[in-house]
Amino acid sequence: MKKILMIGTGGTIASEKTPSGLTPELTTEQLLSFIPGIAALCHVDCLQLYSLDSTNIRPEHWLGIAAAIRDRYDDYDGFVIAHGTDTMAYTAAALSYLVQGSPKPIVLTGAQKPIWFDGTDSKRNLTDAFLYACRGCGGVQIVFNGKVILGTRARKTCSKSFHAFSSVNYPDLAVVQDGHLLQYMRCACYPRPLFYDTLDSRVGLLKLIPGTSSELIDFMLDRHDGLIIESFGVGGLPGGEQGEMFAELRRWCDSGRLAVFTTQVPHEGCDLAVYEVGRAVGELPGVLEAHDMTPEAVAVKLMWALGQTDDREKAARLFETPIEYDIM
Ligand code: ASP
Repeated sequence: MKKILMIGTGGTIASEKTPSGLTPELTTEQLLSFIPGIAALCHVDCLQLYSLDSTNIRPEHWLGIAAAIRDRYDDYDGFVIAHGTDTMAYTAAALSYLVQGSPKPIVLTGAQKPIWFDGTDSKRNLTDAFLYACRGCGGVQIVFNGKVILGTRARKTCSKSFHAFSSVNYPDLAVVQDGHLLQYMRCACYPRPLFYDTLDSRVGLLKLIPGTSSELIDFMLDRHDGLIIESFGVGGLPGGEQGEMFAELRRWCDSGRLAVFTTQVPHEGCDLAVYEVGRAVGELPGVLEAHDMTPEAVAVKLMWALGQTDDREKAARLFETPIEYDIM
């Protein structure tokens, strides 16, 4: 029988009703007591790492989850992480960079309704997650509402419905239907995972709106090591090469830092070379493009790349190297 480690971190799935609103209080053992059928599928050990609304998850928690997996990696066949849905896609991306090439499944799941709630999605999601941890592919994935989504490609796209997650610019890996796993994508063959334990969390995001002040880049210069600019369409800066924002971005780049361009458009990614407002921007030394990566993967990958080296060129190469199918 497979041995699975269940790691509890909080979220709606583990929440109780309190006078101040839903609060994660249930332990992993209490969650398991709602799905007795799991005992017939696998042996489960529990590790209660955090009890957090995932709004309160920070990069140090990602490092904590990765370290918990690393320290127990050889003792288990797979890992199920119960997590809040709000930042689950960030944690899935973070684990994809911190635990690269895992031959064992690392599965995140959660729910839109607490496990004691009538008609909850918790029991199905947890059961499917254990099934995938026992029979699915290695690597990091989210199992939710019957879909299996690659960790670097997941986004929360519905705030209330049970179909909360989508796979962006990449197909679903598998589905779980009535307890049967239908694996659409072939499993990659990995020997042993590479674990990382450093991130540089001084990464900031500037989302452009028409009329954004260029001074915001200057404000971010003192506070961040990496900048993400979420631009429009396939990408560009208001004013193009002649604009104030371009001058501020040049100062950013002259300081030896990286800036990554991504897009507010949900699908298909960016390409700065297409328009006049983007081409010169893309040619500035230190400016990178996120291509078709998710915003979550971009943020975490930049933290990871900057956490591995102080050398801008090396960090740029790390960022641009496809990892866990995050860039096509
Ligand atoms: N606020 C909750 C959380 O992310 C939402 C959820 O789990 O669905 O922890």
